[in-house]
Amino acid sequence: MSLINENFLELQDSYLFSTIAKKVAEYTKENPDKKIIKLGIGDVTRPIVPACLDAMHKAIDEMGTQEGFKGYGPEQGYEFLRNAIVENDYNQYGIDIKTDEIFVSDGAKCDTGNIVDIFAKDNKVAITDPVYPVYIDTNVMAGRSGKFNKEKEIYENIVYLPVTAENNFIPELPKEKVDIIYLCFPNNPTGTVLTKDELKKWVYYAKENKSVILYDSAYEAFITEDNIPHSIYEIEGAKDVAIEFRSYSKTAGFTGLRCAYVVIPKTVKGFSKTGEEISLNKLWNRRTCTKFNGVSYIVQRAAEATYSKEGKEQIKQNIKYYQENAQIIKNGLEEAGYSVYGGVNSPYIWLKVPDKMTSWEFFDALLNGVNIVGTPGSGFGKHGEGYFRLTAFGTKEDSIEAINRIKKWKN
Ligand code: PLP
Repeated sequence: MSLINENFLELQDSYLFSTIAKKVAEYTKENPDKKIIKLGIGDVTRPIVPACLDAMHKAIDEMGTQEGFKGYGPEQGYEFLRNAIVENDYNQYGIDIKTDEIFVSDGAKCDTGNIVDIFAKDNKVAITDPVYPVYIDTNVMAGRSGKFNKEKEIYENIVYLPVTAENNFIPELPKEKVDIIYLCFPNNPTGTVLTKDELKKWVYYAKENKSVILYDSAYEAFITEDNIPHSIYEIEGAKDVAIEFRSYSKTAGFTGLRCAYVVIPKTVKGFSKTGEEISLNKLWNRRTCTKFNGVSYIVQRAAEATYSKEGKEQIKQNIKYYQENAQIIKNGLEEAGYSVYGGVNSPYIWLKVPDKMTSWEFFDALLNGVNIVGTPGSGFGKHGEGYFRLTAFGTKEDSIEAINRIKKWKN
């Protein structure tokens, strides 16, 4: 008899995107003539840029030759990409990261999910709320969350850090001691950011408490304002306490191609039960070599091309396109009288739903009233209730049209 990992039974079913799809399908069936604008799911829509396409074509041709053929590559990623990352994403900004501190992967979802493998079950974990659900669910699977309290809508062993308009979307340092802290900035779903000074507090906290910060900066390319850190390593001391996750998904439209990376400086340490310092880089390397066989050569060449002169310029144009959409949506919603957050350093726009409505009630009203689909904030956690997420990843035309509809609807 095979016994299951009972931690999985503790997972709460997420019906968020399936419920949205069902509601949209029902509405479309009843109203086939209505044009629905989808600003819900956080997937990109702009095609892969020519520099990356060229690199992939070249890599494919190479694979068909005896000299150029590649079998298994290094589990941690090819040196050409790891070097390009170090140079372009870190050294260029005065951050001293070494090639063997970079691990290339097929996605930040897998990385932020798999990282829990190298930590003991007994760690106390702090997670912001609302949140990208992967952080919570993977800790549930690993048995770190405790039971789900249905009444309170929380896992008993997780320390939740609310981020709402009341605290300006700046999480407060935990009152109790925590060992692992998940931070994601620019944030999904709220679209908000931390300044360097705010992030400093977390680095100090982690140093003082010997905790590790898991810093997800999948959306760093969307930052427009100065003084907003692109990398946690811009903060002095962070190299002792932080692991950083980056992805080409939103930066370069690789959601379908799949490529990301993790940075684990050799100076970040965990502890054995006897108090011995252990390098997390070493543990992650061991895990990677055991469970992963690397990202495809072709895709890694495409990722490398994002750092070429043309690649950088082309990607910048795509990001600019989404940033303009974000501005259109944010400004339009404000003109329509909504309280709006995010959208400046992020492709996500987070709005407060009108008084006394729930996130889902607003979803239904928006779908039925003006045929626009967004994502109810409550789907991202208890403190997302009363908020609603729209994304800038649609077309410019749809973003403008959506705002025009909302303005007319409101007036
Ligand atoms: N981290 C955050 C905060 C995200 O919102 C997403 C995707 O939406 C990911 C990671 C996943 O990125 P990837 O496509 O690299 O798996």
